[in-house]
Amino acid sequence: MAFRKLALTEPVLKALAHEGYTTPTPIQQQAIPFILQGKDLLGCAQTGTGKTAAFAIPILELMQAQKPLGPGIKVLVLTPTRELAIQIDESFAAYGRYAGIRHTVIFGGVSQHSQVNELRRGVDILVATPGRLLDLMQQGFIHLDKLQIFVLDEADRMLDMGFIHDVKKVIAKLPAKRQTLFFSATMPPEIQKLADVLLKHPAKVEVTPPSSTVDKIEQQLYFVAKKEKPELLIHLLSNPEIKTTLVFTRTKHGADKVVKILQKFQIRSAAIHGNKSQNARQNALADFKNGTLRVLVATDIAARGIDIDELSHVLNFDLPDVPETYVHRIGRTGRAGNEGIAISFCSADEKEELRDIQKLIGKQIPVVAEHPFTANAHMSAPAPEERPARTNFRGQQGDRRQGNNRGNSGNSSRPAQRQQPARSSNSHSPSRQGSAQHQTSKHQTSQPQTPSNRQTLEQWEEAERW
Ligand code: AMP
Repeated sequence: MAFRKLALTEPVLKALAHEGYTTPTPIQQQAIPFILQGKDLLGCAQTGTGKTAAFAIPILELMQAQKPLGPGIKVLVLTPTRELAIQIDESFAAYGRYAGIRHTVIFGGVSQHSQVNELRRGVDILVATPGRLLDLMQQGFIHLDKLQIFVLDEADRMLDMGFIHDVKKVIAKLPAKRQTLFFSATMPPEIQKLADVLLKHPAKVEVTPPSSTVDKIEQQLYFVAKKEKPELLIHLLSNPEIKTTLVFTRTKHGADKVVKILQKFQIRSAAIHGNKSQNARQNALADFKNGTLRVLVATDIAARGIDIDELSHVLNFDLPDVPETYVHRIGRTGRAGNEGIAISFCSADEKEELRDIQKLIGKQIPVVAEHPFTANAHMSAPAPEERPARTNFRGQQGDRRQGNNRGNSGNSSRPAQRQQPARSSNSHSPSRQGSAQHQTSKHQTSQPQTPSNRQTLEQWEEAERW
């Protein structure tokens, strides 16, 4: 199906062609006709499905149809984070490049001065985070009496981030007669209740539930001791095929620590999290997008909505507490038909999180059974002579364990290793291309191991003790 079939007008079609979009994504195919008809919409979709364009395109169409537009804000898009707000505004700029509709974005953490100036000049579409919106409304800079369309984006995140009260305050100020578009990746009871109150006879659009969304992303699981995670990360990054990777940590402190270690190894990296200034976050994101940084380390909240089209790898340095977050995280790669690889580290204390994630996605994440840091991961590792060589933590090559430079005939005091099945080749996976190097001298730095010797967690646990 082509965009042309969605009854869009020339300025929008031209802008989409400019973006290189030819085919609407499933959520766009389903949602755009309903929105154009003026219906309320309940969209169950996560970042990466094309949901921003699914509402931005028809909104631009509806605004165009009313030209010349009178004064006042006609569309409000409420979204939880600054990064998301900026990206949504950029989408309006991109898809509305030939439409001549005025739009702007407001968010907290920066001076309100330029935002107020923009508002004074007149705005048709306003993208906002809840706190700054309420603040400017209270100061009398924003009036929503002319509002026609209200978009609530990432409603479940609003709840997670504690913004739901602010959202309700904003909703109380909206004209009763309006079109409401409600998007949420998940529908916990409180969000369902809010949707029930807000929406009138909504059309419902649900795309790719989490389990199938992640299918096109190659997932890899590394069991590793907590303290060896940094070393494993450095080891994996020795593969030049990992051009850019977004690394997720559970805490801000953890993100800073990872960056410190990466920088020690001259790996261009930066952290983004709530303690960083707005400028620092935006600069880091821009540097990551333009390739100056190879690794961006982020906490979930800071990374929310980060939109990078060609992100090849996502790495979960820590597993998230909330299983849906895993789906959100790995959805940052493999976008718009690209391939993506999601690597997850799992230490013994994260076993419960892993179980919850695997339950949610409805499958076992393939385990990379052979890597240099299996010994302390509460499971047996390949015997020393067969263990792949490693880059040690000080950047020297070779295995740091004693006795590893024995010949193959050396008597190992370790339990006999499990017989590993033969590797299968898979040329499309960049990391797999390095697999031949595992056969090289143990004093060489090996390329990252891949799930060639795949086992499920259950198989692993059966054979080994946690
Ligand atoms: P979103 O789910 O809105 O975060 O969008 C995910 C990514 O898909 C963004 O990078 C968009 O630029 C891209 N995208 C959205 N719609 C399309 C489309 N129809 N064709 C190709 N890429 C798209």
